[in-house]
This record gives sequence, structure tokens and C-alpha cells, in this order.
Amino acid sequence: MLKLKDVSKFYYNKGLIATGFTKINLELKMGEFVVITGESGSGKSTLLNVLSGLDSYEEGEMYINDEETSHYTEKDFEDYRRKYIANIFQSFNLVNSYTVYQNVELVMLLNGYKKSQVKQKVLDIIEKVGLTEFKNTKVSKLSGGQKQRVAIARAMIKETPIIVADEPTGNLDSASSKDVIELLKKVAKDRLVIVVTHNIEQVEEYATRIIKMHDGRIIENKEIKNVEVPEKVEESKYTKITIANKYRLGIRNTFNIIPKFLLLFAVFLFITVALLSEYASFSQTEYEANKAGYNVFFRDLSEERIIIKKKDKTAFTKEDYEKIEKLETVKYVVKDDVTLDSNISIYEEEMGIYLYGDAKEESFFDGELTAGRMPEKENEIVVRIPKDYYYVRNGAEQILNKEFRRDNDYSKYTRENAKILVVGVKLYEENDMFNYYGQNTTFYVTNEYLNKYREELNQNYSKIKSLFAGKYYESQQGNPYYRIQPSDKVASGTAIVSNEANGLFKDYKAKNKELKIEIENIYYKDELNLKVSNTYTKNSFTRITGNKDYDQNNGAIFINEEDYKSLFNKSSYQSSVFVKDEKDLEETKLKLEELGLSARPVKDFKVNEGKEILQIIKIFKLVVTVVLILALFFISYFIIRIILKSRNVYFTTLRMLGATNKNVKRILDIELFINSSIAYFSFIIFILLNKFEILNIEFIKTLLKFLSLREYILMYIILIIMSWLISRRFSKRIFKKSAIKTYNEEV
Ligand code: ADP
Ligand code: MG
Repeated sequence: MLKLKDVSKFYYNKGLIATGFTKINLELKMGEFVVITGESGSGKSTLLNVLSGLDSYEEGEMYINDEETSHYTEKDFEDYRRKYIANIFQSFNLVNSYTVYQNVELVMLLNGYKKSQVKQKVLDIIEKVGLTEFKNTKVSKLSGGQKQRVAIARAMIKETPIIVADEPTGNLDSASSKDVIELLKKVAKDRLVIVVTHNIEQVEEYATRIIKMHDGRIIENKEIKNVEVPEKVEESKYTKITIANKYRLGIRNTFNIIPKFLLLFAVFLFITVALLSEYASFSQTEYEANKAGYNVFFRDLSEERIIIKKKDKTAFTKEDYEKIEKLETVKYVVKDDVTLDSNISIYEEEMGIYLYGDAKEESFFDGELTAGRMPEKENEIVVRIPKDYYYVRNGAEQILNKEFRRDNDYSKYTRENAKILVVGVKLYEENDMFNYYGQNTTFYVTNEYLNKYREELNQNYSKIKSLFAGKYYESQQGNPYYRIQPSDKVASGTAIVSNEANGLFKDYKAKNKELKIEIENIYYKDELNLKVSNTYTKNSFTRITGNKDYDQNNGAIFINEEDYKSLFNKSSYQSSVFVKDEKDLEETKLKLEELGLSARPVKDFKVNEGKEILQIIKIFKLVVTVVLILALFFISYFIIRIILKSRNVYFTTLRMLGATNKNVKRILDIELFINSSIAYFSFIIFILLNKFEILNIEFIKTLLKFLSLREYILMYIILIIMSWLISRRFSKRIFKKSAIKTYNEEV
């Protein structure tokens, strides 16, 4: 059956060569009960390992069933072991965290038998070795003798032709040793049993051949009894491990050692929390940058607001508004969209009061005034202001009935500023500590006032170019030159310009020349073709233009009131829809689009400044996430490696019992997959408890606010991939060395 011809085995160890055995010649037949003896270090174990294909040899020839094996690959030896060999070790090599039943069953599961097929067989074998009453006991709780009987049961169940036992009684008392040897003898019938022992007397009566080794050589090889060689060698059958069995083992391994389960759980929980909170904190930054981004144009950032324009870029008509207002989810439409996003600052000279806030049409005011009344005249306003604000901390009367002036920089150059009278005050409790003063102050003004204000704003938001003599001149913020002013002294279709404009023409005459005014802003584009009807000087300024303030308005282009309105009073190119509930936003958006409108929720609106920051944050987020994942991977790999180190023996055992590298990896994969999933979903449950307010943890609330389902899924996938990579790395390490080497290092 097995034949060695001048076989030698050397160990190479850091440049040193040690001899396992040298020039062994040996022939072993089926049916033999071979006993090998010799002092420690004489090469017995090495010989057994080579014979059982656990270790390689360096010289000579080994024949298995008359087949030379020098060309055998690792896979061939694996097959050989699975078909022929069952090992029994001095240190039992059992899975301590498994029960007796599970240990015996393990070989069968690894060799492709179905669970249902093996049950009776396992029970029968356990019965044979006399451990039925312990079948559900964990192996760690058994005595040495009992453990070795489990190992024998395990060797028996596979029904291999060869059983190799390396000092099976080495750790046992004499009574147990006797049991074990007797058991081996029983098993031995028709098989080839090779036993290493120091205790010759115990085995003498059974042995058919006794081999003595000394210093790596066989010094005696004595056949005591003749054996009948069976005609045919029955190979042990095996197939690939079934998927179900891999899962069975993976699940079993997840839970069989509770401290290990908890440690892994803690590591995976840590990864989960780290990943999710990192991602959430970035989403939060992104969200804030986003908000900051569109603050530039949109001050009213209500979640309920949708900005609408007509797809054909024409102005809204009354019918359009009617259609929109009919939509069920629409609360109201703000036609003068511009004013929603504008702020006003006003000041009162006498007391030095300065107020700053959003302007809204008075009809939007709801609730009760703290003091005063609603506006009645164009220049009257109501102020809604936090009650602990400096200027009103002693009561609404501090600002009520005071006369203010508008203080926006550009307003200096516009038509005469109406004085503003505060006729009503509403004080309210401000809860949002992050909201800075001013942003939470609101002015409610009359419609007429808003109209004028809008014209002013439109001019301010617009790029205004005037074409004199084929050349464009642009109006600049804070400078009166080329600014457009309305005047009732100018006829429609004409313009009055400063006499300085004469210099723009070759003939030094502006009068009767063509003047084209072009304006463009984020809402619309327009142009006006005019004829210069007159020019003004400092002296004639007020007389010709009707404006009293030459110093602030010199250089401005005066046009007819109606022409002015046609340029700047165009609220209806863009409006805003407010929905009843944030939830209705998407649905309403779709409905508006069906009406031929372009509709964008203000929260989706990004202006350029914001976009760049967002882009940077996105790249940064990606980089940090990748770095974090790598760091987490290595940290957790090292921790998991330490946790799993105690499992090296287990995986080596699997290997010796016939599991391939892939099998081991898959079984570990499954274990880590289950564990990481449990950790992940525990955390999700924890999050949900917060969502439904059973728990109330601030940190979790942030996660909830800033992570979407997509991101939860993404993080889960990352976690699973990480656990998969960890398992791959770990199993690669195990398989770097031969099974027997790993085993010897660990035990
Ligand atoms: P026995 O089982 O008879 O006690 P071994 O087969 O274990 O003897 O060892 C035979 C020889 O091989 C000894 O000299 C031992 O030092 C050497 N040896 C065994 N295993 C290794 C190893 N992994 N690396 C280096 N030398 C080894
Ligand atoms: Mg030994």
C-alpha cells in the first residue's frame, strides 16, 4: 500500500538544516497494525506526517498504491489524504468549542455529506466508542481519554483505509490508554493502522509489525505476524462540501464561543459607528455649505418653497396663477418672488436704532400684534422681532411709531426714499439659538411699497448696459453713472442724460442720438430703444429731471416712469409656490412641471459659490472616507487577527480533515458576514429606537437627519466588503504554511 525508497526529510530553518529522517526504506501493506517506537526526536512524527501526506519529503521515492508521488501537487496530496488517511494526534486535535457530536460530524460535513445522511452514522460511531451519554457535551469538558475516543470516532467515521496515530496515548493514564489501543485494534480490521507509541507492552499483543527508529533512521523493522492482505482497497468517498454545510459551519462558528462573538461584534460595531458618523458629519457639512451656498440669492429657504418659471420664459399670467393655486398641495403663491429673498435694513437717527430683516407683503402676517396696528399707508410697516432683541428688550414701544429710513447702500441713488414708519410690532420668543439677529426679524410692508422696492432690487440685481455711439457702458454698484432713474418729466421713448455724455459722441452731441439700454438678471433679459431728448447740467438738473439730489444722481439716465416699469417691474417672470407640507414637495413639483413650468425646490437650488465648496467637500469626503476605510480595515484586521488567532488550530484542523483553502475562507467569510451584519443591524435598531423616540440620543438624531437609505445601504456594503477582505487576508495567512507546521506551532 505504502512504500518508501531511500526517503529523506530535512527541515530548513533560518539557514539551518535539521534532519527529520534519512534514507528510510519501508513497505506497509493493508491489514497491518504497525507500531513505531523510538526515543524522542528520532523522527517518528516526521515519518508519520510524510506518510499521511501532511508534510513533504526531499529525497527518495514514495509510492502510494504503487504510484510514484514525486510529481504530486498539493492538491494531489489533499485528495490522497481525503481518500486514504485519518489522523489521530497526541493532543487530540479536536474542536473544543464543538460538542462530541459536532466534532465527529465535522469530517462528514467537510467531505460533502449532507447533514441528514450523517446523523445516524455519527450516533452509531459515538455509541461504538462509548460516548453516547456525552454526545451533546462540549469536548472541552471531557477527560483526556474521552477526548482521544472522540478523535478515534472521528477517524473511524470517514472509513479511510489508513489510520495514522501519533502517540495517541501520550497524554493518557494507563487505563485510558488501554481503552484507546483496544478501540484502535477494533478499528484496525482490514485497514492499515500505523501507531507511534513509547508503550510497546500495551500494543505488543496487537502489533503485526514493530519498527524502531533512532536518530532519523530505522534500526529495526520486524514483521511479527503475517497479515492477510485484502484484495481491494476501499477508498473513502468524498465530494465537495455543500453550500448548506458551509453556512451551517459558519453559523455554528459565529455563536459557539461567546466571548469571541462579543469581541468581533464590538469591532464591527465600532466600524459601523465610525463609518456612519463620518459619513453623516460630511453630509451635515455639505448640507450647511449647500444652505450657505444659496443664501446668496435666496433668503427664504423654507423647505416648502418651490421656485417656478415658465418654460417658454414668458411672464406669468393671471390664468397661470389660477391654475397653480388650484393644485391641492399648494398653500399659496408668492408672485413677487424677488422680495422673498431681499432684506431691508432701516435706521432711526435720533435713538440710533438699526434693524435688519426680510421684507414680506403685509398679508403674510399672521398672529396678533403685540402693539400698534397694521399698515395703512405706503410707507408704514409692521416689525416682527425676537423679544429679547436689544432694541425691544424694554418693550415694543421702544420702536413703535418711530420714523426710520432705509439704509441699503444703493438706495441712496434711487428715487427719493420714503420714510418708514413703524406702526405695528410683534414680539416673539426666539428658540433657534443658531439664528443670528436680524435674520429672524421680518418687516411686513404694503404692496405699493414692495412694488417700488422690487424695481429697485431688479435694478440692483441686473447687469445694466447702455449703448452710446456703438459702445457699451455698464452701470456699477454704488455709482450713479449709467444708473437708470424714473422721471415724470421724461416723455415715453426718450431719455435725458448728463451733458457729460456729449463726449461719447464724435460730434459732441448726445441730443437726438440713439440710446439702447440692455438689462439682464437671473430672472429675465430685456432691452429698450430710446432717443436722447435732452442733456442736463448741474444747474439745469432739478428743472429738467425733477430730481433734487444732483450730487447723488449725476450721470444717471432718466427715463419715463412707464418705460422704467417695463424694465424693472417684472415680478411675474419668477414666482414662488409654497406647499402645505414638506412631504408634498416632490409631488407638487411634478404637477407644476405638467403645467409647463420649470419648478425647483429652493433647497435644491445651488448657486455657483456653493457649488464649488460642495465640489471640494465631495472630493474631501471621498478621500477621507477612503482613508478611514483603509485605517479601519487595518485596525480591525489586526484586532480580528488577534481574536481569531486562537482559531488557528480550528482552521488547521479543518484543513487536516479535508477542507480546502477556499472552504476555510468561505466558512470564515460566513462567520464574519453574520457577525458584521448583526453588529450593523443592532446599530440600525438602535437608530430606529431613536427615530421613534423610544430613545433620545442627540448624536443618533444627527445621523438620522443626514443619512439617506442609500447611504445606509452603501455603508452596509462597505462593511461587508471589509469583513470579506479581512477573512481573505486571514485565511491566506493560515494557508501560507503547511497544516502540520501551523498545527505544531499552535499546540
Ligand atoms: P519524534 O516524533 O520521534 O520525537 P520528530 O519527528 O518530531 O521526532 O523530529 C525528528 C527530528 O526532526 C528532530 O531532530 C527534530 O528536532 C526535527 N524536527 C522536527 N520538526 C521540525 C521542524 N518543524 N523544524 C525543524 N526541525 C524539526
Ligand atoms: Mg513525535
